[in-house]
Amino acid sequence: MKFVRLGLGVEMEAERLADLLRQVKYDEAEFIVRPMVKGDRNPFHVLVAIILTQNTSDKVASKALRNLEKLGIDPEALCSAPLKKIEDAVRPAGMYRRRARILKEVACRVLEDYGGDLWRLLRLDPSEARRRLTSLPGIGVKTADVLLANFTDAKVLPVDTHIRRVAWRLGIASRGASYETISRRLIELLEGRINLLEAHLKLITIGRRYCKPRNPKCNECPLRSVCSYAMRETRTASDKSSR
Ligand code: SF4
Repeated sequence: MKFVRLGLGVEMEAERLADLLRQVKYDEAEFIVRPMVKGDRNPFHVLVAIILTQNTSDKVASKALRNLEKLGIDPEALCSAPLKKIEDAVRPAGMYRRRARILKEVACRVLEDYGGDLWRLLRLDPSEARRRLTSLPGIGVKTADVLLANFTDAKVLPVDTHIRRVAWRLGIASRGASYETISRRLIELLEGRINLLEAHLKLITIGRRYCKPRNPKCNECPLRSVCSYAMRETRTASDKSSR
């Protein structure tokens, strides 16, 4: 098993990673869905926000969300709204034609299959809820997992582009590992040690603040003592200086 480099054994390394993550502070306001989850707890509203954040930043997604709110974000309103109006509203988030079509189709399916109440789906067994969510148009495993993580106690850890990079550099998963592999490895290491939703938010924070795609700020990163990449960089630097 990977992630054994310090000679401490997997259990201790996992504990150490969880301990370091527990100390990472993050601002919920930096995540578009968190204030919504804590506020009206309307899963359809949050699902729309997650769709708007797919392949774009939370900042532009927020703009599109505010526009959509003027149309009304509930399955009935979005299902009956003219596609052109939805397109105009979500334009700031990019890929607006595709996004608008997905939003309208999802709204109509939630209306037809669950009477407009997404809680009816979320109350199902987690694996069935995940299967049904991913059967909705434009909803992949990551979107499904983000919704499940925020509204249920399903054992999921959503993996975004930041977490993928952090997991690879930490040495938890290989560079091209699949979504399911990375998520499963993180759950194996962290479950029972730290809340999985918190771990998800904290790993994203690490990715945004320190583990940039180029020139990661390892010297400032709270995870550096358990990170393969940082250890390798330190070794390379000391090899160079001793030549
Ligand atoms: S120590 Fe460096 S490479 Fe490792 S997670 Fe932190 S920023 Fe990324």
